[in-house]
Amino acid sequence: MPDLIVYPGWRTVPAGLYSKTQLADLDLPRVPGGPQRAWVETSNWRGKKDHFELYALAESLPSPATAAQLEAARHRAATGTGRVCGECGARPDRPVPELGAVTGFAYLPDGDAEPTRRLCLACARVVRLRAAVAAAARTRTEAARWAARVLAAAPPVVRVDEVFRPPAPSGRRNLEPVALRVDAVTAISGRRVQATIRLAGPRVKAVPADAVEPGSLAEVLRPLLAAEMVVTWRPEELRPLLRLYYADALTWPRGGHNSLWERATWWRGEVDPDTLAVRHAIDPVTADRTLLLLRRMAATAPPDKAVTK
Ligand SMILES: [Zn+2]
Repeated sequence: MPDLIVYPGWRTVPAGLYSKTQLADLDLPRVPGGPQRAWVETSNWRGKKDHFELYALAESLPSPATAAQLEAARHRAATGTGRVCGECGARPDRPVPELGAVTGFAYLPDGDAEPTRRLCLACARVVRLRAAVAAAARTRTEAARWAARVLAAAPPVVRVDEVFRPPAPSGRRNLEPVALRVDAVTAISGRRVQATIRLAGPRVKAVPADAVEPGSLAEVLRPLLAAEMVVTWRPEELRPLLRLYYADALTWPRGGHNSLWERATWWRGEVDPDTLAVRHAIDPVTADRTLLLLRRMAATAPPDKAVTK
């Protein structure tokens, strides 16, 4: 076949191209009326590749069946099966698919939507969207309860940011941090610690001018790190600090280190209407804003279980 486009999978096939079977499955069937215009490459559930010829709808022609024959065929089949959307009553040219085939079973809500119901693509999408939004609402409540529990322990919030050397002219990056910016606030007293800790020697220019030696902050930071519960934004955010103040990883404090990022994402619970995924929460950056977000999350916890410590 001379230089025909091969589309990888049905989803990538443009609207105006149909296979022979698809043309035959139209409500008013058609047959190819011009040359083959492209291929679609699919793989079946065994992973075996298959190719289908694609024709332009614009060049296709009505099939030889007469209107009377089409009517007779329709009556032989269960009346209208697969031709009418069970929700909105749309009568698409193409067969109406079963809900389970379109949405994926993970997106079917428990009760009302049987996977064998036939819905048009728009109505199937509404079902999926509603299910995704309902799932987000459930996890939001869980995240709020979690925040209330954590806040009840009055944990310090510690934010750590690594400072690196600027990339070399060659583009190579040195991934060894030269300093740590630490921003911490305690939930009880609201006492705030903001400092830059020097990790590299005095000749390293990338170290910020306000950086202090690690030892000068040990007395302030070690109790925060050893708190029963510590809140960060990212998982592993405390790692550089722990490495700095505890020589042996075996002696690292084993308090509950709670990263807020994932929980805040659930709590915001904003479903992206295109992907149906929940949008990632945006980093509050500073310790006091991170604590503020934790407080806002906790404030929305249902009152009955709000403070179960
Ligand atoms: Zn519909």
